[in-house]
Amino acid sequence: MVVETERDDGVWYECEECGMLLETNGEAEQHEQRCDAEEPSYVQ
Ligand SMILES: [Zn+2]
Repeated sequence: MVVETERDDGVWYECEECGMLLETNGEAEQHEQRCDAEEPSYVQ
């Protein structure tokens, strides 16, 4: 899931799965679809 996060230089979009920061909502959504951390893993 992607969450908006406000910084001094503007709003960023953070991937909650891996913590990556993206500049635009579109980039964040694209990342989210490809994020490896997205898949649930019950086995550590
Ligand atoms: Zn991610």
